[in-house]
Amino acid sequence: MKGIAAGVAFASALACLAPSANAATTDEQKFFARDIVARNAQPIAQIGDSIYYFAELGMQEYESTKLLKDTLEAAGFTVELGGAGMPTNLWAKWGSGHPTIAIVSEIDALPGGSQTPMEFDRHPIVAGAPGHMEGHNTHGGLTTAAAFAVKQTMQKFNIPGTVVLSLGPAEEQLISRPYLVRAGYFKDVDAIIYVHIGDQFATGYGLSNYAAISADFSFHGKTAHGAVDPWDAKDALDAVELMDVGMAYLRQQLHPTYRAHRVITNGGIQPNIIPDLASAWWFVRDANMPDAKVTFDKLTDIAKGAALMTGTTMDMQINAAGWPQLGNKVIAEDIQANIDKIGMPKWSDEEQKFARDFQHSAGRKEVGLLTTTTALGARPQSFASNDSGDISWVVPAGLLSFPASVPGIQYHEWHAAITPTSTIAHKGTVAGAEVLAGAMLDLMTTPELLQKAHAEFEQVTKESPYFGVLPADAKPPLDLNKETMARYRPEMSKTYLHLTPRFN
Ligand SMILES: [Zn+2]
Repeated sequence: MKGIAAGVAFASALACLAPSANAATTDEQKFFARDIVARNAQPIAQIGDSIYYFAELGMQEYESTKLLKDTLEAAGFTVELGGAGMPTNLWAKWGSGHPTIAIVSEIDALPGGSQTPMEFDRHPIVAGAPGHMEGHNTHGGLTTAAAFAVKQTMQKFNIPGTVVLSLGPAEEQLISRPYLVRAGYFKDVDAIIYVHIGDQFATGYGLSNYAAISADFSFHGKTAHGAVDPWDAKDALDAVELMDVGMAYLRQQLHPTYRAHRVITNGGIQPNIIPDLASAWWFVRDANMPDAKVTFDKLTDIAKGAALMTGTTMDMQINAAGWPQLGNKVIAEDIQANIDKIGMPKWSDEEQKFARDFQHSAGRKEVGLLTTTTALGARPQSFASNDSGDISWVVPAGLLSFPASVPGIQYHEWHAAITPTSTIAHKGTVAGAEVLAGAMLDLMTTPELLQKAHAEFEQVTKESPYFGVLPADAKPPLDLNKETMARYRPEMSKTYLHLTPRFN
């Protein structure tokens, strides 16, 4: 059994906020930043399209981060790869001192998602290979453009502070952000804005998605012939099954908000060999981390009981854990104002027709693309999880969803890999970068906004303080997805775009 890591103590950075000559972002500053984003539509698209064809799984984002490092360095940023012991963690920075405002996102692909863009029939670029069936590829160009636009505006208007871009590896496996938080990456950051693709132009506040804990439970017994001397055995698979039964009985006594699901990853070899090793991989989730942790601890006790019943031994390893994203209302209101100012992209008739044809071909409602922004507070808490949630419990966080996907097309299925290089994705990414740059500038230039955001943050986190769920000795799984990428990369590399995006 492994212990629980002590949470990273959060000391308010409020006291360090440098007084700014500016009381608010001026229209001139916003227009300046918006113009920079708009005129860089091409490099934004080039980055997104390049990363789409790299299609790298979590922890293996080597080509994607190399391209971004080159691009960001050419744009004047200092770029560190390898933070918190993860070679594909990207941390880019420009400026000095406070306020320090960070953009947070991710760029990893999903297994089996390879699909030829714009084709409605299943037609992988490389059969079996990973692909961007969530559109994380668009995050790279959008966040780089916004960071660049903010930097240029700060230079031109003499705005003090630091802009940071944090692209963490392996979001799809909920891996990297707890390690970044544990390593102290956000302790000097005053606020973050987390960015993710969607079909809406939206922000939100409060708990925005679910907490999740992912863990392996392995049972070690004693093998024997299933017919000749079964009395000599200690059946590890029995323990896995009894753990299942125990959890089934517990379910009635859990809060209705919980989720718990599992697969048996090792169930033995064949029936006449009693398994001396069996394993199950469990996910436990809930609307908040403290409740998820309570259920997870009960599940762990059940596993201990199953080991006792079968005379086996059990070891448990937490693979990943993510807090729900906590959206700060003060920052959300500011992001919403920027969304309403920029508005939805102007979709062409062809794009709307394409979206309806796409929805028809996928058996979804033919509603086309959304043409209005989403009102603040109109998005319910989602049951999905994202490891960036941990950051939002140590620093006030804004959440931005930008419209670059076709409504009704669910992520994590191959259909969603049809559009992330389309003009729909390109336009939505530019609009998202404009909003992000505007909201970043507001946080940079308006001390009152940061103060209010921090006051709200202190209140919420006093009621539910952050604690790290990763064991103290946990190390990032650097070999994650390594074999899969090694198998497919030679074929995939033939489709790389070999572009050199440059911002101006
Ligand atoms: Zn995602």
